[in-house]
Amino acid sequence: MTTANLLDFDLDGLAAFCETLGEKRFRATQLFRWIHQRGARDFDQMTDLAKSLREKLRTAARIEALPVITQHISADGTIKWLFDVRDGNAVEAVFIPEDDRGTLCVSSQAGCAVGCRFCSTGHQGFSRNLTTGEIVAQLWFAEHFLRGHLKTTERVISNVVMMGMGEPLQNYSALVPALRTMLDDHGYGLSRRRVTVSTSGVVPMMDRLGQDCPVALAVSLHAPNDPLRDNLVPLNRIPAGRIALCLQPVPGACAAGLHHVRVLHARWRERHPGARPRARCTGPSPQWRGWHQLQDQPHSIQPVPRLRTDAIAQHPRARVREDPE
Ligand code: SF4
Repeated sequence: MTTANLLDFDLDGLAAFCETLGEKRFRATQLFRWIHQRGARDFDQMTDLAKSLREKLRTAARIEALPVITQHISADGTIKWLFDVRDGNAVEAVFIPEDDRGTLCVSSQAGCAVGCRFCSTGHQGFSRNLTTGEIVAQLWFAEHFLRGHLKTTERVISNVVMMGMGEPLQNYSALVPALRTMLDDHGYGLSRRRVTVSTSGVVPMMDRLGQDCPVALAVSLHAPNDPLRDNLVPLNRIPAGRIALCLQPVPGACAAGLHHVRVLHARWRERHPGARPRARCTGPSPQWRGWHQLQDQPHSIQPVPRLRTDAIAQHPRARVREDPE
């Protein structure tokens, strides 16, 4: 008999599953807490669930962890896991500890179809989308491993960035329930501002995510202008997904031949110490069109208020420039 992987469900999904077993919603909440807050994998641990429910769960459900292929712990506390996602595929998750936060970088696909020219995942090609359960399993494993490793009962992971292998917005239907599980107070209880979806610029889905599950969004620009971005990020050549851009202040700000926006930013900052760079989107989506303030993370953009955006659009330098070098 096929069993359901309970990591595939957000709380609403789990409630619907419990209904098929003849159980009420509050049972789903209890079960959800056991799985995500307490890291339980064995239904017999869930002592406040009725025996009859545990019996049903044993025959109809499972909680499926991803096998760990390798685990590498660095001296600074960074931990990298390589997980087996079957059929010869593997994905990575990375925990990055800082003084005021613990960030987990999570993968969304085995491989990636976007094919950015500088990216080893892009070169490897696309194998398949991860399921919701496979996305959540990275956080589930990391959080409960870290609590044991650091000998704490407190939450260790405060931030999640969907910035591992894959383009998360090309796996939208699996991504959204995973994000909801991360945000749910009965799950990981993460703040919307501390869950970031990083995209190479899948503009229509950026809009949809804002409506369905408004978490933080980071757009990886990878280049200071469209000709270079067209070259590096093939997605940018599709009119519906186009993010035409340039950085301010110009002229002479944009450096050629740079294959990563972090490098670009380092060079850009050398030339413009103290400047606050902006990028401009000219794609068809009204939500994203206009100028955006670049955040401290050099590959992230954040909408600025509409009034300011309109004002900046009138600025004489508000145009896409050819790379000057
Ligand atoms: S979208 Fe991200 S993972 Fe995919 S090829 Fe581009 S940089 Fe690599």
